[in-house]
Amino acid sequence: MGTGTGPVPISMADDIARARELLEHATSVAVLTGAGISAESGIPTFRDALTGLWEKFRPEELATPEAFEANPKLVWDWYAWRREKVVHAVPNAGHRALVAIERGCREREADFTLVTQNVDGLHRAAGSRRVVELHGNIRRVKCFDNHHAIESWQETADEVPTCPRCGSLLRPDVVWFGEALPPEALAAALAAARTCDVFLCVGTSTVVEPAASLPYIALEGGARVIEVNPQPTPLTGSASVSLRGAAGEMLPLLA
Ligand code: NAD
Repeated sequence: MGTGTGPVPISMADDIARARELLEHATSVAVLTGAGISAESGIPTFRDALTGLWEKFRPEELATPEAFEANPKLVWDWYAWRREKVVHAVPNAGHRALVAIERGCREREADFTLVTQNVDGLHRAAGSRRVVELHGNIRRVKCFDNHHAIESWQETADEVPTCPRCGSLLRPDVVWFGEALPPEALAAALAAARTCDVFLCVGTSTVVEPAASLPYIALEGGARVIEVNPQPTPLTGSASVSLRGAAGEMLPLLA
């Protein structure tokens, strides 16, 4: 996915103008981002993260408590591989454009909330202030049994590290399939979806619940939805504006 800025097709120019107008007049903006916004920072989406070494697995076979209990080393190693990509990644033009959109909202005293399903921490690294992390953060680790937060740990070649407090295995502090979301983060995301008048949905396949419901909650409340994604999604038909392109190319045109 490139970040080049070629001429914008005329049909898309209309969509961009409409999206800009919606954002400029909004009194409350909610943004939902997914793995797609970090693709241009070199962090694979779930589908792309299951290539190479990992292509024979499905996310449900690696990102669940059951998978961890069955084969903790396999799951730990997959996250270690992804964490390595995250710690070397830097925010891209899409992340930076959302910082500019937030600044614009602040200057005209409009509400702004950025809800992310990403666990890479790149929105905060870019400078976004009001960020709700729905699925945790891969840079953090906690223990499996008691959720003790662990600051540092020793990687070994053949064993999953253990908790210095209780001895249980360490795991990434992310939300796996089948696990509950952090209640405060979920409440903040729901409140943002219910109260916004513009909902911007970027780089998410809108199939992972409960995040996938957020744009529909916004629609029920009368909000307009702007979608940015190179591929159509189940949400596309309900969006007021659908910008079919990479986040790093489209979002700077809205900022
Ligand atoms: P997903 O992998 O299901 O979908 C990614 C979406 O991004 C797709 O619709 C794809 O068309 C789109 N996309 C790809 N490249 C894009 C680009 N350059 N610009 C804009 N959109 C682009 O991801 P999801 O919807 O976030 O849901 C899956 C789960 O995966 C989430 O729970 C998330 O926590 C987790 N995840 C997070 C990261 C991360 O933190 N960076 C990476 C992989 C998976």
